Amino acid sequence: MNTQAASRQPGSEPDEFEAYLEKIRRFTRDVLIGHEDVVEASDEIPADVVDQMRDIGLFGISLPKQWSGLELTQEQQVRLTFEFTQASAVYRSRFSTTIGLCSQMILDYGTPAQKETYLPRMASGQVTAAFCLTERNAGTDAGSLETTATRTPKGFKLNGIKRYITNAPDAELFVVMAATGEDENGKKDISVFLIDAGTPGITPGPRERMMGQRGSHVSEIFIEDCEVGEDALLGGKVGNGLKMALRGINHARTHVAATCVGQSTRILSEAIAYAKEREQFGQPIADFQALQTMIGESRAELAAARALTLEVARKFDAGPIPHIDIACAKMFASETVWRIADRAVQILGGMGYMESHPIARLFRDVRVFRIFEGTSQIQQLNIAKHAIKHGVSGQL
Ligand SMILES: Cc1cc2nc3c(=O)[nH]c(=O)nc-3n(C[C@H](O)[C@H](O)[C@H](O)COP(=O)(O)OP(=O)(O)OC[C@H]3O[C@@H](n4cnc5c(N)ncnc54)[C@H](O)[C@@H]3O)c2cc1C
Repeated sequence: MNTQAASRQPGSEPDEFEAYLEKIRRFTRDVLIGHEDVVEASDEIPADVVDQMRDIGLFGISLPKQWSGLELTQEQQVRLTFEFTQASAVYRSRFSTTIGLCSQMILDYGTPAQKETYLPRMASGQVTAAFCLTERNAGTDAGSLETTATRTPKGFKLNGIKRYITNAPDAELFVVMAATGEDENGKKDISVFLIDAGTPGITPGPRERMMGQRGSHVSEIFIEDCEVGEDALLGGKVGNGLKMALRGINHARTHVAATCVGQSTRILSEAIAYAKEREQFGQPIADFQALQTMIGESRAELAAARALTLEVARKFDAGPIPHIDIACAKMFASETVWRIADRAVQILGGMGYMESHPIARLFRDVRVFRIFEGTSQIQQLNIAKHAIKHGVSGQL
């Protein structure tokens, strides 16, 4: 196990990275934002846009060059995320489970054969991975999951139902958390399994209809007598599954915070552009101090969320993984984008409620950031427990 190596990637050379950032800015403006209406209307990212996302390297930003990735530092990944999430967050959803939740676990805990099999194909976007933890009776309380993996002569047999699994309908690989036993106190021993799509006994259900993020595909996964070999067990050993999952979750929470910054930037820019154009009482509504208060407050909160997320990313690169600071950034940035989106609807007035303007869609899209990768309540709880035990000087 090599927890720090992944977070201490040397990163791209500064000049090379700045050129890549500029390329991503152009791609976001010309391709991603340009296709938002098509994605929303068809509930699908067009295949040629996904191909362009692969070609430009987005599936490989978190993996080392050894595995055909771009080997960016967490700070560089976060700065990139600030850019491409100024387009619909649905694009980010398409590769987020691959670059964060799933690849980071395999990178840190996988056997050499597992890394060889999956990481290069994940970096190129050939393999989309779905992270399968949540169940009907195990959401925030993930440790109470009911999916089981029992030993067979050749490996394991899995049974259970997962729900709300992002990219399940499009995945080539399912990364499944399952109980392989329990200790004397009845606490579940959780292990992680890498199961190729098409393996008999594992089937995604129909796509959920969601409040927002149309084009992001989420479904249940039905696992029924799914037999896998020993080689499917992540790291080749049973147990330690929640710790392995947290490796991916901490990476993903940092990226959710960065996504909230990108979405806030877009939403506030849209609101300001509208306020400068729209006139009432013979003047642009941007001239009214009541609106300036909302714009000023949003701009300051955006700056705070951006600064905190960058600081957390730098700490991530320096190691050890600053899980409490990550919780602070995820909670603060997701609450911030929600407030900014709500104010933006108010600034636009009736137009903020019309689907003919992107603000209504963005408002619906950002609601989920306070829920997935750990709700705001569970982040607050964990932050508070840590502060009470260790004081507030904290990890930063
Ligand atoms: C669009 C979407 C995509 C998702 N993608 C994935 C995915 O790819 N893979 C995956 O495994 N999961 C995924 N999830 C699941 C997500 O992580 C869970 O929804 C989330 O962890 C909350 O679990 P729950 O929905 O069961 O809510 P619950 O755990 O039932 O929580 C309900 C409420 O109770 C509160 N609560 C619960 N426990 C406590 C506590 N101890 N103290 C205070 N308050 C508490 C919560 O904050 C919340 O307000 C996704 C969810 C959504 C909505």
